Amino acid sequence: MRKYVIAGNWKMNMTPSEAKAFITELAPCVAGKDGCDIVLCVPYVDIYVAAEAAKGTNIHIGAENVHYEAKGAYTGEVSTAMLKEVGAEYVIIGHSERRQYFGETDTTVNLRTKAALAAGLKAIVCLGEVKEERLAGITDEVVAMQTKLDLAGISAEDLKNVIIAYEPVWAIGTGLTATPEQADETCGVIRKTIAALYGEKAAEEIIIQYGGSMNDKNAKELLGKENVDGGLIGGASLKVDAFTTIVDAAN
Ligand code: PEP
Repeated sequence: MRKYVIAGNWKMNMTPSEAKAFITELAPCVAGKDGCDIVLCVPYVDIYVAAEAAKGTNIHIGAENVHYEAKGAYTGEVSTAMLKEVGAEYVIIGHSERRQYFGETDTTVNLRTKAALAAGLKAIVCLGEVKEERLAGITDEVVAMQTKLDLAGISAEDLKNVIIAYEPVWAIGTGLTATPEQADETCGVIRKTIAALYGEKAAEEIIIQYGGSMNDKNAKELLGKENVDGGLIGGASLKVDAFTTIVDAAN
């Protein structure tokens, strides 16, 4: 049985004091709702404060990116050891905004994922097609290729700490949502790709989230689909009420 993972992606929102206030308000709303794992991926500077605020609750804290080198002359970057020391357990890798605005490629996504796993972090690896690719009818090929490239060289043992977030780029922050059928179908393609790479058991076990304008209104239907094991949630993770409703839907 797969357990849902509901993860927020705060992007470049919330100062440390806002993060503390948010988690203090959220914690009692989601207390005991253990039918899903609850994660908030927050800006680097918020991680320590967020992890402190989340202590003793069922909320886990993650980062939004990580560098693949352990240390050195990489101005502006943050290492896996730094993330772990301030309390991050998860890290988002390869978000479409990183790919779109910061030159992230499947090669760097693969390097970052390997570094995160080697350090004992859980990696939320994002992939998904752009609008032109969906319109051209090549979504399945695109997500299969990204799955193979992003996970290249990752062992079956390490795969247990990988979550895949299927995020159609045209649905992120746009208010456009994939239909539950589209989400299910494409998450299913990713699962089949995992089966081909790692075998049926690994494919049955891996968590595949949907992300792209998931909110308190559409979560229940999306999460009701067989291949959708949770959500990566941007906008709606910034509102306690909406995020709680999504957690409730998963429960
Ligand atoms: C995201 O940032 O991963 C995301 C899915 O954003 P939104 O929910 O706002 O579309």
